[in-house]
Amino acid sequence: TTTGEKQELTIRLCRPRGFCAGVDRAIQIVVLALKKYGPPVYVRHEIVHNRYVVEGLQERGAIFVEELDEIPEEHRHCPVVFSAHGVPKSVPADAQARNLFYLDATCPLVSKVHKQAMRHQRLGRHVILIGHAGHPEVIGTMGQLDEGSVSLVETVEDALRFEPPAGQPLGFVTQTTLSVDDTAGIIEALKQRFPDIQAPAAESICYATTNRQEAVKAAAPGTDLFLIVGAPNSSNSRRLVEVAEKAGTKRGLLVQRAAEIPWDEIRDISVMGLSAGASAPEIIVAEIIEAFRQRYDVTLDLAITAVEDETFPVNRELRDVPLTTE
Ligand code: SF4
Repeated sequence: TTTGEKQELTIRLCRPRGFCAGVDRAIQIVVLALKKYGPPVYVRHEIVHNRYVVEGLQERGAIFVEELDEIPEEHRHCPVVFSAHGVPKSVPADAQARNLFYLDATCPLVSKVHKQAMRHQRLGRHVILIGHAGHPEVIGTMGQLDEGSVSLVETVEDALRFEPPAGQPLGFVTQTTLSVDDTAGIIEALKQRFPDIQAPAAESICYATTNRQEAVKAAAPGTDLFLIVGAPNSSNSRRLVEVAEKAGTKRGLLVQRAAEIPWDEIRDISVMGLSAGASAPEIIVAEIIEAFRQRYDVTLDLAITAVEDETFPVNRELRDVPLTTE
């Protein structure tokens, strides 16, 4: 309302939030490829799980496909970018067989998990992948390994039920965007049953996931509502909602845009947490703060738990394209 006194609302704005270095790099790769080679540039799978980002790139001439065989014959010379989530080994092999020019935007931290999984396999271990069935990162990581040499474990119950192949040592890796706390529980259950199970040489859950969860965990106690900006298919964003709820917010909510905020349901709030998943652009966070400012007398309270300075370089082929900020 624009008349009368507005209700007071404190927004605890988490930092770090939003774009991580892997997402930023993946978007840069598409933008630079469009500049260097001209449209269209094909992208296999949503480059990052965010509709706003995808639509923005489509407007510049990116075409999104789920599989390589959707690229028409006459566009075989156009570059195709693989998404930040990573791809099974069969995908670059297929691209080569079709004579396609591809740019791999797999996040270096996902590639690191691939390497750890392959290392387990090389050392004769059966690999347990802790992650969510059907997520493209899980499909990509499983697709680095020989058929039958990897088992997916999603929950503590799965860990308790899991039957390992007889006589084979075990090693595990995880998806990069899981809940740090839930994953620790699953690993604990596995270690109790299989004390010799080998951890990866480096932590699989990435710095961005860990930092965003820590910031939300610190800000959540005492909040009436916790809004996470992110898409329903974004694993790390969904985990942030769960972390907020476990850490004591009365209600966690995932929204993609300000238009999705259920104003009628959230009338009586005085303290609210706000953060964004690794694939959510800052412009939507700003849009949401503005929407609250129109309805409430907002005080912004910065909840900073870490400062990030990670950046990942783009593919060699694109390093000669001048970067302009738009
Ligand atoms: Fe890379 Fe982590 Fe971002 Fe995924 S969430 S793209 S692993 S930095």
